[in-house]
Amino acid sequence: MTKSVEYIIVGDGYAAIFLAHQFIKNNKSFLLFTEGKKSASMVSAGMINPAVLKRFTTFWLAQEQIDSLKNTMTEIEQYTGQNYLIEKPILRVFHDEKEKELWLKKSDDENLKPFLSKDFVKLNSVKNPFECGVVNQSARLDVSGFFSDMMNFLESQNYLIKEKFDYQLLKPNDSTYKDLSFRKIIFAEGMAVKENPFFAEIPVHQNKGHHLEVQLSVPLEDGFTIKKKHFIFPLNNGNYYYGGTYDREQIHHKIDDVAVEKLTNALAEFYPHDFEVKEVKFGFRPTVKDRRPILGNHPEFGNLYVFNGLGARGILNGNYFSINLYHHLENDEEIHPEVDLKRFQ
Ligand SMILES: Cc1cc2nc3c(=O)[nH]c(=O)nc-3n(C[C@H](O)[C@H](O)[C@H](O)COP(=O)(O)OP(=O)(O)OC[C@H]3O[C@@H](n4cnc5c(N)ncnc54)[C@H](O)[C@@H]3O)c2cc1C
Repeated sequence: MTKSVEYIIVGDGYAAIFLAHQFIKNNKSFLLFTEGKKSASMVSAGMINPAVLKRFTTFWLAQEQIDSLKNTMTEIEQYTGQNYLIEKPILRVFHDEKEKELWLKKSDDENLKPFLSKDFVKLNSVKNPFECGVVNQSARLDVSGFFSDMMNFLESQNYLIKEKFDYQLLKPNDSTYKDLSFRKIIFAEGMAVKENPFFAEIPVHQNKGHHLEVQLSVPLEDGFTIKKKHFIFPLNNGNYYYGGTYDREQIHHKIDDVAVEKLTNALAEFYPHDFEVKEVKFGFRPTVKDRRPILGNHPEFGNLYVFNGLGARGILNGNYFSINLYHHLENDEEIHPEVDLKRFQ
């Protein structure tokens, strides 16, 4: 017997889950395919950061994205009972006096004023001779709590299909997949989109990221996220997350010892106490040259869509553009031209 749904989502990372939230919120019937692998999203740090911490700038729609994410998290709380935002700011360790001066100068800029605090912080647990700048409105997501609760909720409501979606069995002209019939299907597979014969050509490039889970001999202060070369912050199990690296070249599916060494050395440089590496994880960010996500419709099949290219900002991009995509799917709202797949055609 054929089962009929409005939407199918393929994937279970930020892109897929934030879109699923839109469907839940608006009472749409849908099914989400998960193959049960650890997504890039699940190894992400969970940073929600409106500032670019290299040269102290911000990015397109940063304030709108932060506001929208807060809103979404309140909506999700209504059905999972949890808010996964950990409202502890990012503290950026200054390398020298010059950086501090630059921060101060930038904090007067209209666009940066809301994000770069003029109040500096001095920490005791790490080396920070030039103090740290506080990123206002930054926070982090409880990544493991978010995914585990969302997947449990989806399963309990029968939205979940725990199997790998097999592209060969999709019949786009009939809008069917095996014994399912659907109105529209959205592919949100991260880097695995390269295996998707309908969207393999979209210009996403993998950027591999490693992080360490470490045990610190002396805990860090107040649950802050501290950023020197990478981010460090406490996890729920008492260990700390330190990462992630960026690598476009070493893209094999194994742990890269060079990345691990880089991380270990960078941590030893600013954390003056003993630590032990407990685990190493990695994932592949789907990045796009123009640093914008990719949303849109297949040029030939009007019922096939892609949602990808979230880059290094999976949480903010995933949430914000899932709303745009939802209104496009349901109300024919225009996809922002800057993120529309059509910009490459
Ligand atoms: C080390 C690291 C740290 C990061 N830190 C941050 C951070 O702090 N903040 C932030 O915002 N972003 C961060 N990111 C970036 C973020 O993780 C990515 O932007 C995001 O994960 C991309 O999400 P996605 O949903 O597009 O893809 P993914 O997370 O890769 O999810 C795609 C999922 O689809 C599944 N799938 C694929 N094909 C199929 C199929 N045929 N059938 C069924 N399932 C399928 C895959 O198994 C996978 O689980 C980080 C990334 C890395 C690697």
